[in-house]
Amino acid sequence: MLAAAALAPFCDRVTLVERDVLPHGPHPRKGLPQARHGHVLWSGGAKAIERLVPGVTERWPAAGAVRVPLTSGMVAYTPHGWFRRRQGPTPHHLIACGRDLLDWHVRDLVLRDHRIRLLEGTEAVGLTGAARRITGVRTRSPGGSSQGVRADLVVDAGGRGSRALHWLASLGITGIRERSVDSALAYASRVFRAPDHADGFPVVNVQAAHGTAPGQAAALIPIEDGRRLVSLSGTRGGEPTSRAQDFVPFTVRLRHPLVGRLIERAAALTEVSTSRSTANGRRYFEQARQWPEGLVVLGDAVATHNPVYGQGMSVAALAACLLRDDVRRAGVFGTRLGRRVQRAVARPADAAWASATALDVFYPGASEQAPTPTDRMIRRLSGRLARTAAASSYVANALTQVTTMEAGTTRLLWPDMLLALACGPLRRPLAGPPLTAAESRLLEPVGPARAD
Ligand SMILES: Cc1cc2nc3c(=O)[nH]c(=O)nc-3n(C[C@H](O)[C@H](O)[C@H](O)COP(=O)(O)OP(=O)(O)OC[C@H]3O[C@@H](n4cnc5c(N)ncnc54)[C@H](O)[C@@H]3O)c2cc1C
Repeated sequence: MLAAAALAPFCDRVTLVERDVLPHGPHPRKGLPQARHGHVLWSGGAKAIERLVPGVTERWPAAGAVRVPLTSGMVAYTPHGWFRRRQGPTPHHLIACGRDLLDWHVRDLVLRDHRIRLLEGTEAVGLTGAARRITGVRTRSPGGSSQGVRADLVVDAGGRGSRALHWLASLGITGIRERSVDSALAYASRVFRAPDHADGFPVVNVQAAHGTAPGQAAALIPIEDGRRLVSLSGTRGGEPTSRAQDFVPFTVRLRHPLVGRLIERAAALTEVSTSRSTANGRRYFEQARQWPEGLVVLGDAVATHNPVYGQGMSVAALAACLLRDDVRRAGVFGTRLGRRVQRAVARPADAAWASATALDVFYPGASEQAPTPTDRMIRRLSGRLARTAAASSYVANALTQVTTMEAGTTRLLWPDMLLALACGPLRRPLAGPPLTAAESRLLEPVGPARAD
């Protein structure tokens, strides 16, 4: 949808080939199984989507999405302690709601553009053309018949299951490097009814400890209609199960039982949904020796990231903006457009990759390549950064700028940050979760906190 919105102003017609029949409204669909799990949209991603789909960031809150200010609206227990919540107005935020709601409002606005034609229930099964130029896609319609869509530019935004590598290979373009860092993370999610008077309750994020396997975590996200979406995650050997009776006990056994205390007596509104589609995966299309004219690959088809960091939608949105910028400058027929866009979209994908894999490479069996000295240095630096940020709202704010994808990772190398890092944490860590008195009253009594 975002790629279509990016291209429509510069094309006579954009044809959107979608395997699913898309629901009219914020409803689940087969091709987006991850929508049952917590999806936060960082403000950098929300702003990118607004640039492509004007008006959407007003529609989300009007439909019940929660705009959570950061860091005041988040209670995060990092491996280095509780993050301090910065009070007062802050420039960064996240959008919290069900993924189906996010998508529905994007879809509803994008498909109003008469230049965009939706081919629903139609699967893209291959590329047409040759290694030098792509001329369209081969499709399979609901009845199973094969057809073709001719196009001057083909964008593969088919998500993590994209067959782009295979399709390129069939045209003779081979040897594209791939990398996987897979901690075998499993997700389990369930929706609960929030208690009365819980409006404005923060996002709660109890993260996994550093350096211990398995890594287990939980996040509670306030979503539309007075509900809370709780997502649990655990790496190999510590996976949450799909059994309803295991859900709350998992949260209580974490490094801190805060999430469990918030849901122990809450009414569950759904069954438990699970997912294992969580590996960090990177396809280095931008390094291909040969790249055809007329092809661009975006979003999860280029890189997937450990979802605990909530970056995938923002990376995809920033990539669609980069596509639009290039097409605006050089036109759809611009020479080497695909090559340039592929290089450009590698930047946000790699920024997200660096944070998503910084710890994952240390889980046993996660990567075929043992952690390198650079991996160890990044882990040490990110540890010091997180420790300092936990004690300083100034450093936390800069880190939030990067996490929310409003600034690139180079923000962390500015002189103010280097000085702060050299000094290290200047305040003691908080002894417990930074909840207000009103928030504390909403806690349900469960077992005591487990020491790290
Ligand atoms: C458990 C989990 C939790 C996550 N949490 C977050 C989060 O908190 N924040 C965040 O930003 N990201 C999160 N993500 C990542 C996010 O879901 C993805 O990064 C994002 O959806 C990628 O967008 P995309 O458009 O590239 O692919 P998708 O959203 O997967 O869309 C692909 C589309 O292509 C269609 N399609 C696929 N193959 C074909 C074909 N051959 N022909 C026609 N149509 C096809 C599909 O039906 C679908 O509509 C999470 C992911 C998971 C698995």
